[in-house]
Amino acid sequence: STTEEQLILEAYQWLAKLYHHLLYHTKDGKKGLEYLHQRGFSDDAIEKFQIGFSPQSRDFIVKFLEKKGYHRQLMVKAGFLTTNDQINYFDRFRGRIIFPIRNAIGKTVGFGGRSIDNQEPKYLNSPESELFQKSKLLYNFDNARSEIRKRNEVILLEGYADVLALYQAGVMNAVASLGTSFTDSHANILRRYVETVVICFDGDTAGQNATYKTLKLLKKVGCNVKIAMLPNGYDPDQYIQEFGAEAFRHTILDTSASEMTFLISHLKKNYNLNQEGDRLRYVENIISEIALLDSSIKRDHYLRELSEQFSLSYEALQQDLAVKMQNSK
Ligand code: ATP
Ligand code: MN
Ligand code: MN
Ligand code: MN
Repeated sequence: STTEEQLILEAYQWLAKLYHHLLYHTKDGKKGLEYLHQRGFSDDAIEKFQIGFSPQSRDFIVKFLEKKGYHRQLMVKAGFLTTNDQINYFDRFRGRIIFPIRNAIGKTVGFGGRSIDNQEPKYLNSPESELFQKSKLLYNFDNARSEIRKRNEVILLEGYADVLALYQAGVMNAVASLGTSFTDSHANILRRYVETVVICFDGDTAGQNATYKTLKLLKKVGCNVKIAMLPNGYDPDQYIQEFGAEAFRHTILDTSASEMTFLISHLKKNYNLNQEGDRLRYVENIISEIALLDSSIKRDHYLRELSEQFSLSYEALQQDLAVKMQNSK
């Protein structure tokens, strides 16, 4: 019911405040704060994102919320508690850094909790609920919204830590999905605010594959997409820690690739280009992608590039493209 949802929402705001307070004012929290500082996160960023710490206790939250008059049933429903046997319930987040996840109007509707002692899973999120729908929420969207609109551009990242790192690097139009993959709901939300999305995922195979899927979803809703690629083994946060904000902005963001440049290199991985059959299938695959481009100038540009790179007749490629475009109508 609405009133129940309001109570849960209110409890979330209390908890976000509490966790943040505990980070700075308790012995347990001190471990979390040291961890964050040691990773290079400033007090300013910690404030801005209201980062917190959940104590290593099974009933700290239960007791806190009980004192405020909340029923246990509601705490379970809100996802503050968890259980192994459906009988005994205890605090879901214990000994973790807490990232409050806010909805578009800045209300906390979930938490992401990161372990600081190699406890699995590395990140634990609030469970899915009416209020907390991962497929529709984007981390930092509430803060970034005005800057996103102003620049007509959003930078899409994988992780919470990456968003903080970009904030510290002075990049304010960055958001992240919540560990789950990017969805068409996310794409539709972003499309309402921007034309251009710059995807900057982790520089590993998982990040590359996610980039491909995300690119497809964003094209479907009509976004212009650019790909900011990181060296293998780096994510945006690691890159900034190692090479600095300037390098990130100039070497990574400003040199982001067009979608075709990304696809040409990404799709290569599925083929053995030393074999003629594979080489031709790869070229076919690229032509299909070229057929999807919305401008004839772009199509011509990449067709020429393809013809040069593989010493194939431009006219033949053109005919192939014409057939593909006819078929996709
Ligand atoms: P860190 O820098 O703190 O190690 P990260 O953001 O680089 O974190 P990744 O492993 O790259 O971590 O994961 C990207 C995002 O995916 C995380 O920020 C988190 O939202 C989500 N995630 C990662 N691991 C899990 C997990 N085990 N369960 C749920 N979500 C996860
Ligand atoms: Mn990763
Ligand atoms: Mn990462
Ligand atoms: Mn990281």
